Amino acid sequence: MFGRVSTLALVAGLAFGAPALAAPSQAQVAAAAKAVQPKVVAWRRDIHEHPELGNQEVRTSALIAKELKALGFEVRENVGKTGVVGILKGGKPGKVVALRADMDALPVEEKTGLPFASKATATWEGRTVPVMHACGHDTHVAMLLGTATVLAGMKKDIKGTVVLLFQPAEEGPQAGEEGGAKLMIRDGALDHPKVDAVFGLHIGPGDANQLNYRPEGFYASSDRITITVKGKQTHGARPWAGIDMASVAADIIQAMNQIAARQVDVGASPSVVTIAVINMGMRQNIIPEDLKMEGTLRTFSTARHDDLVAKVQKAVASIGDRYGAKAEAVFSQPYPVTYNDPALSKWVKASLEKAAPGKVDDNAPLVTGAEDFSLYAEKVPAVFVQLGGRKADVPAATAPANHSPFFDVDEAVFETGVKAEVFMALDYLERK
Ligand SMILES: [Zn+2]
Ligand SMILES: [Zn+2]
Repeated sequence: MFGRVSTLALVAGLAFGAPALAAPSQAQVAAAAKAVQPKVVAWRRDIHEHPELGNQEVRTSALIAKELKALGFEVRENVGKTGVVGILKGGKPGKVVALRADMDALPVEEKTGLPFASKATATWEGRTVPVMHACGHDTHVAMLLGTATVLAGMKKDIKGTVVLLFQPAEEGPQAGEEGGAKLMIRDGALDHPKVDAVFGLHIGPGDANQLNYRPEGFYASSDRITITVKGKQTHGARPWAGIDMASVAADIIQAMNQIAARQVDVGASPSVVTIAVINMGMRQNIIPEDLKMEGTLRTFSTARHDDLVAKVQKAVASIGDRYGAKAEAVFSQPYPVTYNDPALSKWVKASLEKAAPGKVDDNAPLVTGAEDFSLYAEKVPAVFVQLGGRKADVPAATAPANHSPFFDVDEAVFETGVKAEVFMALDYLERK
């Protein structure tokens, strides 16, 4: 309790002690980020212990709304289902900048052994599953609440408006639902007030406090691939009397690997075609009538995307023809490339350097993962940045990545994350 009071006092003191009408200084921001750090850690542990799956973030969003209201934010709830939008109008007129944090956890059984490890379960697509913040979205929420605290303490000196987007279901909603950035945008998250630019941060197992990004395409586009094949059932002892679905499945996988490796210019732009699910058959001596395969396509250019979709669809259909089966590949749930605005990417480096001097890499490698932050970036100029969070005693080569049941981070890096968010927002608003 004492810690909490002293933190608030320090933040408030900074606000009231600031000279009138001056932009908040770098030292002010650094001191406020340091002061709020114990609260950020406490929020993170609380949210980590109580993770919620996409579109189920009821407790998390209630906590966010309560904290934002206490800080004097205008708060809109139930945006994009369980999302929360916080609006802070500064003391001076200006532009509108948005910062985004995702809130959802994953159906993963936590194995970190942390004292605040999750024991939660939830229902997902009809099954009871364990739930864990295995992608670090707990830290994103905690850091953005820290950023909210710092900005609220400087409200009268802020030139313009800061919009905080707490978004559900980044990992994708369960079957039959919609969710994520798409619904936030549909519910006007970027429109009231009209947002001029948006920044986002994702924690990962990179070197602690390192801030990585690159201009233009950063994270891949993603499509869900669903392949269905209709054949002819037969006895396992008489494959010639039907259609051998295992051979069809094998040929489809070989064809996809061959397309990805041999039929596109691998030097021009990377792409990945993966089959991760194969469903067929009930018994060892029955060749089934149906085969279903699922996978994912990752690309960094529209031309490559469209080319691979066409090639895979053609290959799947022709393999089906060859066996006398009806085979079809459908591409769905598309996420675009996470595109960092080139001019904004160039400009934002100085702000990130203030948060992590000497630790900013603006030429980070492409990431074949996908992010629905990409949907905001389609609407307004945006930059998405990675924050390294690997603990000092964990070797880089074996550090558990996001989505691992062992994923964990060094909480000390939250201070860097908060500073990065605050500097990006404040500097954008001060920008001529
Ligand atoms: Zn994830
Ligand atoms: Zn994530």
